[in-house]
Amino acid sequence: LSHLHGKTVAVLGLGKSGLASVKALIKSGAVVWAWDDNEDSRHQLDALELTPVNLVECDWNQPDMLVISPGIPSTFPTPHPAAEKARRAGKPIVCDVELLCTTAAHVPMLAITGTNGKSTTTALTAHIIAQSGIKTQVGGNLGYPVLGFDALEADDCYVLELSSYQLDLIADAAFDASALLNITPDHLDRHGGMPGYIGAKRNIFTHQKGPKWAIISIDDEPCAQMATELAREGGHRMVEISVSGPAQHGVYVDDHWLVDDLDGHKNPVLDLTTVSHMPGRHNWQNIAFAYALCRARNVATDDIIAGVMSFPGLAHRQEQLGAMNGIVFVNDSKATNAEATARALSAYDNIYWILGGKPKEGGINGLDPFYSHIKKAFLIGAATDDFAATLDGHLPYEKCGTLDIATKRAFACAQADIANQPAPENAPSAPVILLSPACASFDQFKSFEARGEAFRTLFNALSSQSPDQE
Ligand code: ADP
Repeated sequence: LSHLHGKTVAVLGLGKSGLASVKALIKSGAVVWAWDDNEDSRHQLDALELTPVNLVECDWNQPDMLVISPGIPSTFPTPHPAAEKARRAGKPIVCDVELLCTTAAHVPMLAITGTNGKSTTTALTAHIIAQSGIKTQVGGNLGYPVLGFDALEADDCYVLELSSYQLDLIADAAFDASALLNITPDHLDRHGGMPGYIGAKRNIFTHQKGPKWAIISIDDEPCAQMATELAREGGHRMVEISVSGPAQHGVYVDDHWLVDDLDGHKNPVLDLTTVSHMPGRHNWQNIAFAYALCRARNVATDDIIAGVMSFPGLAHRQEQLGAMNGIVFVNDSKATNAEATARALSAYDNIYWILGGKPKEGGINGLDPFYSHIKKAFLIGAATDDFAATLDGHLPYEKCGTLDIATKRAFACAQADIANQPAPENAPSAPVILLSPACASFDQFKSFEARGEAFRTLFNALSSQSPDQE
């Protein structure tokens, strides 16, 4: 960040990314004015020997820019008063990603956004690239703050997961390959409606120039429309992705084969049914995107396939914990709404479904097409009565109260069903005990991660008692 040496930079929000920004800015010789509305967060500055500056009350003629945490509203629904003052004073408002792009423009950058599948695609892409021998750092919306990255060189690679909030806060940032996975309505309050949300996502392509890759789905209406507009504008290397039909000069799924048509050769490269650790069409979409991103970084096809096959997966997202007595345990604690849960329910049949927690608006409406995949539901948490009313007369269920009881009951039921199973040739696919709650966790847990870890602990405890571990 040497270009900011001697400049005054205001930093609002002292979470992980804000604090990493403060440290990087101090190191580069900037004068840092840092603030967080939360007093405890401000105390983190003590260790840096920095006195907090109240950015709502300060003289906004002095700072050269505002670096704001993406979690803090700078426009909708109501801008933070400090952001409002910065805007009135005509100061640029950006996030840390903008600063990374300015300072590390020589390092290849792959950027990924979308409503769903960002973390999976980002982690998969970074895994493949690292496995192929390229030095890689991964972060952004997922995990690690970008201004905490090690400095990399032109042969290396940064892989960034970007949220719509971050994309709203970039000014000139350009990426060597940008990927937009899908768009469905989400976070609309923060973007003032669907056009604002789509506009934020579009920013991932806005400043790309020359042969840089614009990798975009054509499977949903907003993305398909954006792809048409980008192609019309020209200037990008357009790479379209589809899991439901051909994508000329792109990457697509034909039947269950991943097809590489990037050079116009329609080359079937991977039988997706062999990627059993990433089941479901949504994962095929994630794989197709990771494939294109890695090709943009010149990774050879064989290395990409090897990387997909060795991908350990992300914790709490349809994470296969293991199997016991032929029963598979899947932790999808990250599925905090019905739409995410629908992906998991569609990926398996023969499901013993653990669900519930702090319900979201709409509850589990819309999941009935998957009821035929479900043997029984096990209800936990605050949503219990609500969900029981939805399931009544459609699916057998038990009110279990806690995750502990639900897991034990689900396992007992699956074992009993195996004992009564028909002849092997008629046997359904392996029973799956699926934690995919379609709810926030906060009624019983600190976070979806804590809920997923509790499920892992229960699985480990059960498997240590089981004579037949796999
Ligand atoms: P994000 O980072 O965008 O929230 P994740 O990769 O963490 O996405 O996945 C969150 C949930 O969304 C997963 O549990 C999965 O069920 C679902 N999901 C993953 N990939 C996709 C996709 N490509 N399309 C739709 N849903 C997806």
